[in-house]
Amino acid sequence: MKTLAIGIDIGGTRTKIGLVNLSSGQVEGILITPTETKDGDQFLKTIGEAISQFKRKAATEQAFLAGVGIGVPGFVFADGTVDSTYGFLEFMDDYPLATHIQQQHDLPCRLDNDARVVALGEAIYGHGRGRSGVPVSRVLVLTLGTGLGVGFTIDGKLDGQLPFAHMGGHMTITTNDFVCYCGKTGCLESLVSGAGVGRIATRLGWSKKYPEVPLTAESIFAQKHSGNPDAEAIVDEYLGYLKTGIDNYINLYAPDVIVLGGGIAKGLSKNERDQLQTPGLLRPFKAYKTTVLISELHEQAGILGSAALFKE
Ligand SMILES: [Zn+2]
Repeated sequence: MKTLAIGIDIGGTRTKIGLVNLSSGQVEGILITPTETKDGDQFLKTIGEAISQFKRKAATEQAFLAGVGIGVPGFVFADGTVDSTYGFLEFMDDYPLATHIQQQHDLPCRLDNDARVVALGEAIYGHGRGRSGVPVSRVLVLTLGTGLGVGFTIDGKLDGQLPFAHMGGHMTITTNDFVCYCGKTGCLESLVSGAGVGRIATRLGWSKKYPEVPLTAESIFAQKHSGNPDAEAIVDEYLGYLKTGIDNYINLYAPDVIVLGGGIAKGLSKNERDQLQTPGLLRPFKAYKTTVLISELHEQAGILGSAALFKE
């Protein structure tokens, strides 16, 4: 019998709900709704409609539906209570999300931090599968999006017990730079997220010189790729921070592969990707080798990883 699970990826503006075949990693259906950030009842109602629809689809196919997995942008306790989302989802402080879903849909529900589930998705269905069918043991996944997500897996399993095992983005890179929303100064996340590109650009006077160009990572990288030297200076500084972060993570995690996901990673040129490769680190171990790869799961990584919370 086919085993399916529902994976839910709560994003900044959109929530993606997918029905995943757990053995093949195929996403058999996706529903996308605007993310409700203020009203808990409305949030449950919106995602509840999608869950019900996929529940009916699984029943029609006579498949086994293992449960609902959710990647939450914040802290999660092992009992399925959300501790905090940094105020992003206003109603979700000390919020028993898993219990609500279980009661409403009569299905098991498992939660984890969103960056961690993306790493799980990559480990099981992405680059972690390995090229020649030999799974990669140690996989570090960095998601460069609205923030910086950090997740690490060993042999296809998440490393570390919940909670509080996912603050890797707040590694200090400089001691006199931007103040991060976590309260510290010079966090990697505040420099290499989408907003980080904007901050570097603002400091270098970009908006005064190019008021017509939107202050987004996408447009600044595009300007660099078309030869703008001011954009090149911004991107060079950005890549320097990212490379420093990657080098530090290598010394901490000794990953076999590092997977970069998210919109910024997808847009990196071949040359920029090469700048991030770090052969010869973790000295003096001559046999150590790591490779930096770009995710090929794209927008489905969060859905796959959330569903994979049910992969036994
Ligand atoms: Zn921080």
